[in-house]
Amino acid sequence: MKIGVLGNGQLGQMLEQSVTDLTDIEISLYDLRAHDDALLAEFLKEADIVTFETENIPDHIVSLVEPVKDKTLPGIDALKTFQNRLLEKRALRNAGIATADFAAVTSLDELEQAVDSLGLPVVLKTTTAGYDGKGQFLIRSRQDVEKAWQAIGGRELIAEAFVPFVRETSIIASRDRQGHMVIWPMTDNMHHRGMLRYSLYPAQGLSQQKMALAEQYIRSLAEHFDYVGTITLELFETADGLIANEVAPRVHNSGHWSIEGAEASQFRNHILALAGQKLEPAAAIYPAVAMLNVIGDEQPAVIADGRKNVYRHSYGKEARPERKLGHITIVADSVEQRDLAVAQLAVVIPAEIRDQVM
Ligand code: AMP
Repeated sequence: MKIGVLGNGQLGQMLEQSVTDLTDIEISLYDLRAHDDALLAEFLKEADIVTFETENIPDHIVSLVEPVKDKTLPGIDALKTFQNRLLEKRALRNAGIATADFAAVTSLDELEQAVDSLGLPVVLKTTTAGYDGKGQFLIRSRQDVEKAWQAIGGRELIAEAFVPFVRETSIIASRDRQGHMVIWPMTDNMHHRGMLRYSLYPAQGLSQQKMALAEQYIRSLAEHFDYVGTITLELFETADGLIANEVAPRVHNSGHWSIEGAEASQFRNHILALAGQKLEPAAAIYPAVAMLNVIGDEQPAVIADGRKNVYRHSYGKEARPERKLGHITIVADSVEQRDLAVAQLAVVIPAEIRDQVM
């Protein structure tokens, strides 16, 4: 079976690597940045199943994929919904999932009104094309309103009430064609300047009740879309509950730990689901795991080479500020051991957030 992946970044590469032992599955990656209508048409024709590694796919390309929507998994509906933050928030609410209060904003007037009704602070975001905290503005005071509009306005925006979260977490699941699901254990996700820096398993201190709620959320969401493949729900933990932030209709950075840390990875189960094969278990196989992103000019090769229980993944990209170049996974027999190993690699963690785990 030929599975064609739209996008050839690190997620596409890891999808490919996850099933190299399965001779009946062949993965090919389409470079969205070098798009050409005829090339895409050929790519779509050759694929038995089409999938994507990113939801940031230009409308023009999505319209070219529409005619093959029957073999596109997860569906085009999910893609279109989760590439727009407004549609996304509405879908979350429809599936019975708690989100921050929000309002659509298309003018400065509407932004003023949104700030009135939501109350400060407000997080203003572009509805499309934002990732890793880009296309966002935190409005703390009335004076910021016009600045925010000038910075990212002039296009469709969503204003969200600021969520006073105690931590960020995520839940990742795969769903097969028969509706069976496997769900990975949750992680603690630490961000810095809008970018994920590291994910820690287990998400310590997260109550059973909140974990059960997150599972209920992801099940409900996946069922709502009759979803096939891997899906991610990013959540804020608050003092008394969980608030959904966003959905990735795909494998996610906070699930990279599953390559070495879980029985099956998020990548492998995505492909197995698409191929109509049985999903593999998602349980963790170590008591503690950490995944650290390597960003900008950090040097994973120097940092992690040769250490026991440390796995280095380099994406083969040129170093650029704010660019994810690779990740490092640490597996350990205990949380203490894991944190010690993380501390030894502390050079890759910005000082501002280092204190959060050490
Ligand atoms: P996003 O691109 O929506 O994932 O946002 C990037 C980061 O901004 C998140 O990981 C949060 O740290 C922060 N953020 C986004 N939306 C909110 C919100 N409504 N309240 C508080 N923080 C937020």
